[in-house]
Amino acid sequence: MKLVIVNSSKEIHGWWHPLKPYGRRECTAERFLLNPYIGCQHACPFCYTRTFPGYFEEWRDRETLFVFENFPQSVAKQLDKLNIAACGYLSPVTDPFQPLEDKFHLSEQLVRIFTERNIPIEVITKGRIPQGVLKLISQQKHSFVQVSILTWDENLRKILVPGGADTETLLDNLRRAKEAGIYAVARLDPIFPYLTDNLLDLRRLVRVVKEAGAKHIIGSVVDIPVKTRKEVFALLARIDRKLIPAYRELFQEKIGYSLHARVDYRRHIFGELRKICEEEGVTFALCMEFALTGREYEGRPIVEGLNKYFATSKNCEGMDVPIYVRRGDKFEPLPCDGACLYCANPVCGIEELATGGAWHLSDYLKWSKRLVSLQLWKEGD
Ligand code: SF4
Ligand code: SF4
Repeated sequence: MKLVIVNSSKEIHGWWHPLKPYGRRECTAERFLLNPYIGCQHACPFCYTRTFPGYFEEWRDRETLFVFENFPQSVAKQLDKLNIAACGYLSPVTDPFQPLEDKFHLSEQLVRIFTERNIPIEVITKGRIPQGVLKLISQQKHSFVQVSILTWDENLRKILVPGGADTETLLDNLRRAKEAGIYAVARLDPIFPYLTDNLLDLRRLVRVVKEAGAKHIIGSVVDIPVKTRKEVFALLARIDRKLIPAYRELFQEKIGYSLHARVDYRRHIFGELRKICEEEGVTFALCMEFALTGREYEGRPIVEGLNKYFATSKNCEGMDVPIYVRRGDKFEPLPCDGACLYCANPVCGIEELATGGAWHLSDYLKWSKRLVSLQLWKEGD
């Protein structure tokens, strides 16, 4: 594995997949996406970032890991120019607690940069969350953790997430988060048809993650990017060759650049999982689950998100995280639940947020000026 240190002035930005006009993104609340590394030692063969261009190709083809060593300092400078801030999301395209973190500590630095300004941050991982990171997160009211647990079966886990932590370590993340008073989400995400979709196993998993400290469950069914279909099928063949014809038969829906399991199968699994979560007393939502509507716009299919049929929480990540505004050196929450996509009364003064766009730093800078002229951040309305 080759390491490349990159000095970059890349900017923080929001979700990048608004899907408009072909559909609407499902992520209800705004986030600042934070990627201190590109390339991931957890090396999941199904990882969607294997289809991405640029640095990601280098990772996929030559196992090169990129370390954006000055990124935390650059993020700090960017935050210091803003009067309005969304919760940080660490990370959408790499695991922030892959082994590399032990050497560079960029994820921990980012958590510190957010929490010392009293801006919320969430971390999502298939690795071990360091205790120091949990301590920082526990000091910020709306910060939380997400832990991905795909299976009970340790042999299968080693094939699906070869470089990730074992299940006991993942459960320990949830226990330690609970002890620290931190809201925790367990992601059974993605579910693999005919491998990890047994309903008794899913119920057992929900029960155990709840006991460990999870308050919310996120589910999805794996999708197969067309570009890396061969690799995903090779993975399945390693587990059981009979999966190949079964997946060919099931993965009939092409949405964007990926093949998805037939919607009747997905609806069945999500309905059962929601029922299990309701019975076990935890909330439930889906991540990035869309279905074809049969309608088209300019020759491209229009899709709909499935959360409206299955989610039992207002925000897809369970926790309601408001947008924050500056007061002096620190930030404070506005009185909202952060569900911008459904917001009927934008007390933040930024009506655009309800349209679910792909926002850039320039948008936050523009809104920061608007907040000054509205003096909202001074009055605390
Ligand atoms: S842990 Fe996440 S980012 Fe890393 S390889 Fe697996 S799916 Fe991709
Ligand atoms: S007031 Fe509404 S639009 Fe503004 S941040 Fe809160 S939920 Fe989003």
